Amino acid sequence: MAKDFSKGIYNSRRWRAVARAYAESQHYICERCHNRSFAGTGKPAHFIVHHKRHLNPENVTDDSTVYGWDNLELLCIYCHNAVHSQGLDRECRFDDDGNPIGIVNHNNG
Ligand SMILES: [Zn+2]
Ligand SMILES: [Zn+2]
Repeated sequence: MAKDFSKGIYNSRRWRAVARAYAESQHYICERCHNRSFAGTGKPAHFIVHHKRHLNPENVTDDSTVYGWDNLELLCIYCHNAVHSQGLDRECRFDDDGNPIGIVNHNNG
């Protein structure tokens, strides 16, 4: 189902700032497999700042859940896909320069 409750967050400046700061703190290294394809390769970064406790309509208003580093995990696209069995989630991706980018619309219905 649509995740409209989290859309505003993932498009917000605050989330991007938090996600970027967190990713930098992890040196853009996947926390699970230690893949660091971003660093030094010049290739597109396939990293996502993931919420360990997935956001839902109840906890989305809780700052510590949404923005607290305790609940964040930097994952490469492969590990992130493994976490979300559907392989489809919108949290935070990074462009070639390591800048967080917003929601990418994969699914138009
Ligand atoms: Zn990984
Ligand atoms: Zn995720």
